[in-house]
Amino acid sequence: MNIIFLGPPGAGKGTQAKQICEKLNIPQISTGDMLRAAIANQTETGLKAKTYMDAGQLVPDEVVIAIVKERLAEDDCQGGYILDGFPRTVEQAEALSGIAKIDAVVDLAVADEVLVKRLSGRRVCPQCGAPYHVDYLGDVTTCKVDGTTLIQRDDDKAETVLNRLTVYHAKTAPLIDFYQKAGLLRSVNAADAPEAVTAAVLAALEASR
Ligand code: ADP
Ligand code: AMP
Repeated sequence: MNIIFLGPPGAGKGTQAKQICEKLNIPQISTGDMLRAAIANQTETGLKAKTYMDAGQLVPDEVVIAIVKERLAEDDCQGGYILDGFPRTVEQAEALSGIAKIDAVVDLAVADEVLVKRLSGRRVCPQCGAPYHVDYLGDVTTCKVDGTTLIQRDDDKAETVLNRLTVYHAKTAPLIDFYQKAGLLRSVNAADAPEAVTAAVLAALEASR
């Protein structure tokens, strides 16, 4: 299945994509992870993206559409995938319609107050992108997948978080209506505990088959 995870920053798209991709044995296509890798490798795309990301703004559509188009053409995507963090604008969604046939769009819905707490307490693995939260880490400081020391993302600092939520409501939330009209939208209450959200996402995907 070709799946989109929609939802505001902090909704749990990455957390859920890791679980569901493992279960379905399909790749997670995270544009945020791809852009951060491009910055780390100092590629032309990374140089273009950095100032936007640091400010909590969206990277220009043409840049993101180009990297997704290239990625979806790879062999491992031919048996399905989860798009995590793409599309984020109506322009991106329209471009995607010309590249891929999407089977289901899962909207992970969470209130803004909860998102601020989740994002400001998030710690991530700079190597594999796995997300954690300080509330559950205890004394742990490394990634359980690959042992890398966890970091706080620059754009998870308080000022940038609020900016990202404003950008989400202005540019990305209209996609809920876009995919509702296309008959693809499944809404999941993502305020519940992670395991309950995973079960709800799997049920939503089952209903879309
Ligand atoms: P997104 O990819 O949508 O930006 P993440 O998956 O990175 O969101 O999750 C954001 C933060 O919230 C992380 O710190 C993560 O550990 C935490 N988190 C994710 N899902 C839940 C949940 N259901 N309940 C509580 N915290 C969660
Ligand atoms: P994420 O890791 O999904 O939270 O994304 C982090 C940042 O990367 C966002 O705040 C944007 O600056 C940029 N980004 C990721 N995906 C997209 C996208 N589809 N369109 C534009 N910018 C994006």
